[in-house]
Amino acid sequence: MTLHIPFKNTYAELPDRFFAHQAPTPVRAPKLLAFNRPLAASLGITDAGDEQELAEIFSGSKLPDGAAPIAQLYAGHQFGNWNPQLGDGRAVLIGESCGFDIQLKGSGPTPFSRRGDGRSWLGPVLREYVVSEAMHALGIPTTRALAAVATGEEVFRERPMPGGVMARVASSHIRVGTFQALYARQDVAGLETLMNFSIARHYPDATSPTEFLASVIDRQAALIARWMSVGFIHGVMNTDNCAVSGETLDYGPCAYMDDYEPMMVFSSIDRQGRYAFGNQPDIIVWNMAQLATTLVPVMPDGDAAVEEFTKLIHAMPEKIRDERTRLFAAKIGITDVREEDAELIDGLLSLMSKDGSDFTNTFRSLSGDSPQDQFLDQDAFAAWRSNWMKRLETEDDPQTTMNAVNPAIIPRNHRIEEMITAAIDGDMAPFERLMQALASPYESSDQFTDLTRPPLDSERVRQTFCGT
Ligand code: AMP
Ligand code: MG
Ligand code: MG
Repeated sequence: MTLHIPFKNTYAELPDRFFAHQAPTPVRAPKLLAFNRPLAASLGITDAGDEQELAEIFSGSKLPDGAAPIAQLYAGHQFGNWNPQLGDGRAVLIGESCGFDIQLKGSGPTPFSRRGDGRSWLGPVLREYVVSEAMHALGIPTTRALAAVATGEEVFRERPMPGGVMARVASSHIRVGTFQALYARQDVAGLETLMNFSIARHYPDATSPTEFLASVIDRQAALIARWMSVGFIHGVMNTDNCAVSGETLDYGPCAYMDDYEPMMVFSSIDRQGRYAFGNQPDIIVWNMAQLATTLVPVMPDGDAAVEEFTKLIHAMPEKIRDERTRLFAAKIGITDVREEDAELIDGLLSLMSKDGSDFTNTFRSLSGDSPQDQFLDQDAFAAWRSNWMKRLETEDDPQTTMNAVNPAIIPRNHRIEEMITAAIDGDMAPFERLMQALASPYESSDQFTDLTRPPLDSERVRQTFCGT
């Protein structure tokens, strides 16, 4: 039997200046490392029984019937600098199934590769697999991982590394940078087509460019607040890594924080801390302003557009702040949020930052017996705790509120590194175990206490890399 994917490829039917027809490049010895069966089923994929066939298809070595492989055009601001020449340089969208894109990342060169080899090594493939599925299990909008395949080929980075391909699923790969590419070419008809396509696909209720922009802003505001609530740092919030769907896109040098530092940076390429944890709410506003700029030409009256869009952009910081306050209030057991709760939240965060408390474990411990163990300054925590207890008197079930938003487990950097090292040695057991533990992040389990422990100093990962 042969695997079947019920493709219906709508993006490939758009004007062909939006992409380049590009088949993935076959690899030498594809070997399936991971396959997400429940996700495959939700995409309508049938007869996915044969591992060798899965490896061939999801490494790009064999094209399934009905695929229409393309590399998508986009541009973008990278660290604030305009780059008109981006596009899928190492990825190919093989088609859409049940409304979702299936993209192979690391599948060989495309017309957008510039000097790159179009490949990826196994580390970033497995990292994205674990981190994106963990994000999904946390209930946060994200692209998904369908498959990870080892290519049997070497990829040269600083040294030869084993190659890999990641099959990624997204509600679309339309980025702020996709709009920017058409705007830069003054392609007004193209912008209109892309906007109408995005509306039909993601925001069917929007009836104007303004409503479209407002919808993207709402989703992105909610997304960034959710990231903040679990200590996630994207690391490369360039406009080409910012999806108009509102899903987390492109897991490169990202990280979930261990100890809480408000301006934490992991990415080795983010030398000025532009994408530091605490800057993410400002950066997303900047990115949305770039999207707004591209939509001005599709408005009938340019002056009115600028006025309406400016209002939306100016309202965004407060939207993010409110959403963040609502989530952090829940993290300390409060559902009925009051003005003064922001002070209580900030009070806790400032103690955590001063004491270097573990972000995840501190919040999780608030519903347990000994949250004081997470702090060095016992008096300061005791004072905060007594105010907090008073505040909780009017809440019905703070324990349940807290445990629904405070994960017991996150994919910690040192565990990801450990998993990658083992996988390169041919041992997928740490990967399997990490995936199992991260599948139910809001449940505490005695089975996985080692994975919930913060890193020892000797284990600590201080930087994460693009690792392209
Ligand atoms: P990213 O850092 O993944 O957001 O990538 C930024 C841009 O560089 C995108 O256009 C990628 O397609 C491209 N790119 C990254 N790595 C490679 C590679 N190894 N070969 C070709 N293009 C690449
Ligand atoms: Mg990218
Ligand atoms: Mg610290």
